[in-house]
Amino acid sequence: MEPGPVEVLLPDLLLRGGEFHADLAVAYDVDTGRIEGVAPAAEFAAGAAIRLPGRALVPGFVNAHSHAFQRLIRGRTQWRPLVGAADFWSWRDAMYAAALALSPEDVYHVARFCFIEMLRAGITAVGEFHYLHRDPRGDPYADPLEIQHRVLGAAEDVGLRICLLHGAYATGGVGEPLRPEQRRFATPDLDAYLASAAELVRLVARRPLASAGVAPHSIRAVPRPWLGAIHAFARGHGLPFHMHVSEQPAEVAACLAAHGARPVEVLEADGVADEQLTAVHATHLTEREIAILGASPGPTICACPGTERDLGDGMLAAEELLAAGARLAIGTDSQTVIAPLEEIRLLEYHERLRKLRRVVLAGRVGDRLEVAPRLLDMATRAGARSLRLRAGALEPGACADFAAIDLGHVSLQGWSAGTLPALLALSAPPDVISDVWVGGVQRVRAGMHELEADAQRAFGSVVRRIFG
Ligand SMILES: [Zn+2]
Repeated sequence: MEPGPVEVLLPDLLLRGGEFHADLAVAYDVDTGRIEGVAPAAEFAAGAAIRLPGRALVPGFVNAHSHAFQRLIRGRTQWRPLVGAADFWSWRDAMYAAALALSPEDVYHVARFCFIEMLRAGITAVGEFHYLHRDPRGDPYADPLEIQHRVLGAAEDVGLRICLLHGAYATGGVGEPLRPEQRRFATPDLDAYLASAAELVRLVARRPLASAGVAPHSIRAVPRPWLGAIHAFARGHGLPFHMHVSEQPAEVAACLAAHGARPVEVLEADGVADEQLTAVHATHLTEREIAILGASPGPTICACPGTERDLGDGMLAAEELLAAGARLAIGTDSQTVIAPLEEIRLLEYHERLRKLRRVVLAGRVGDRLEVAPRLLDMATRAGARSLRLRAGALEPGACADFAAIDLGHVSLQGWSAGTLPALLALSAPPDVISDVWVGGVQRVRAGMHELEADAQRAFGSVVRRIFG
């Protein structure tokens, strides 16, 4: 095959190996959307590179855990009744009510707007954990992948790379029947679920920015024998296997009562706690579970601290997990905030509050320990590992997914190449991202996406129709 045309971007600074370097350019193949190489600018013919003055280039961020439709309820659950508590479970009731109100077209419009917000925050790939399968009455659509088509279409239309994680949801609690309000999620038959997952794999093969994975929702939502069967399917097809794990103490207690073991122990006993697995949340772990998740090569843990703080889930034992060898990625989950830089800094800041120390999640940089390279790695390379994407790094063969940082942004003033990783990881707001490319195609220019006005109008009309 003939090599395609090559484009070259030359920013003021480029992030490589956890450090910013001046005078490096990145070249990518326009046809394949893959990086050809990163080299000193002098190696490219004069005038061949597109200069990005005042910009630092980083790999696009990978959002490993998202439920796009939950963007709909942002700002609508921040209250509680005069009598009674607000918690994860009461939030879930509000989320279920929103899920029941959405038509397939609504899902498209909410997802499209949500995905634009992600692109603007520098996210170039999303793991969309999707479990809304049926119509509002709970009947299957004529095409079992009706809503998946809409979600894939939304990502394609805005140019976001998507790994669509096919949710399995069969029980309302451990060993309990589905509740009426969960009727749209129902996948009561394992063979039918695996057949639809196989169809999804065929479907995404025709879309250049799409891939697929499997996602038994949680220990609450699938019968235990399904775990091994779905995992075998994932292994057979080389797919990510994602699952909510130990998000709430009540979930751990129900698992202990039913299986005599905690959730991560069940995953290990059933042979699914390997490198295919991404355990989402994992906020309630014992030392033994931390050791299981830290094994190598082992699972990825997807922390969603922006959501976990909002829902009162608890804090990840991030320092202990990293010490055990675990790999941490991040997700925007319920979309309370869409800000990958905030997600990574919350992990560090939660640890500072928990441990009454500073600079906790640190790795060695020269003769000292720093947090920024490790945190930035969670938002890039670790997310790509979770979704089994060749992405999250500026290196040959990786997806040409980039985010450009505006070095003139007020929050960064006083920057140097040495302090920029820390400024990004611990201080910068999302709007330091000025430009975004996915597969070599520029999707965000000067902070704006070209479909934004139209997507915002359509999203607003869904919100008004549902909430008045
Ligand atoms: Zn989730």
